Amino acid sequence: MADAAAPTLLVVVAHPDDESLACGATLARARASGARTAVLTLTRGEAGANSDSGTLTPLSRRRAEEFLAAARLLDAPCAMLRSHPDGLLPWVDADALIADITRAIRLVGATIVITFGEDGLYWHPDHIAVWERTAAAVTALGDEAPALYCVTMPPGQMRRVAAADPSGRPVVPGLLDPDAFGAAAAPPTLVVPCGHYARTKLAAIRAHHSQFSASAFAAITDDAVEALLDVEHFHRAPGSHGGPTFLEALAGVPSAGPRPRA
Ligand SMILES: [Zn+2]
Repeated sequence: MADAAAPTLLVVVAHPDDESLACGATLARARASGARTAVLTLTRGEAGANSDSGTLTPLSRRRAEEFLAAARLLDAPCAMLRSHPDGLLPWVDADALIADITRAIRLVGATIVITFGEDGLYWHPDHIAVWERTAAAVTALGDEAPALYCVTMPPGQMRRVAAADPSGRPVVPGLLDPDAFGAAAAPPTLVVPCGHYARTKLAAIRAHHSQFSASAFAAITDDAVEALLDVEHFHRAPGSHGGPTFLEALAGVPSAGPRPRA
């Protein structure tokens, strides 16, 4: 159980499913290790693929339900969903996005914020916009700024997931090249082992049924999941100051610096 003095992780992403795909195991591990966890997703993903196009439920509502189901699996009790337009985040008023992110940081009392890196996982414009707006929001908090980390995809991991599916489906519908994930990522300074939380991560990814029921993720077997989804990569954001945090401890990195402050 987390207490009021526990480190608080806030993950800021663009679409329902980003949280599970990018850092689901870290969210689950952090929570199990005593942290408070929260997710802010800035769109409802209404422009995404829909593997269940036969349903009359609007995709935005479907994805909101899937997001909440994934958050429950990850044991992230604070799951916040905003309704900025999917696919258009670079053109949404930057101040409005920064205000949303700042409100969320203050609401949950975030001591650690995780968002995309400059590569946007695979150059996704919405992801890159979220990185830019989150970095601006955190920087503006000055001395009260939480530690800011970027999550990136381990190069080759999505290729291995794709290769594990004998039917050759893409890992993400509409994105045919699995090598795009992490290809331009900055080198990680933190590698969080997923361990058995890889199973939790896979379950959370699959909770986004409209996105992944027809993807290579549907083919991963229980025996293979821990080897395929073995690690999650992070690096401290450029300009984010301060000593090691709970996240370093979670990664098992020995600290030669000052005591963790977050
Ligand atoms: Zn996304």
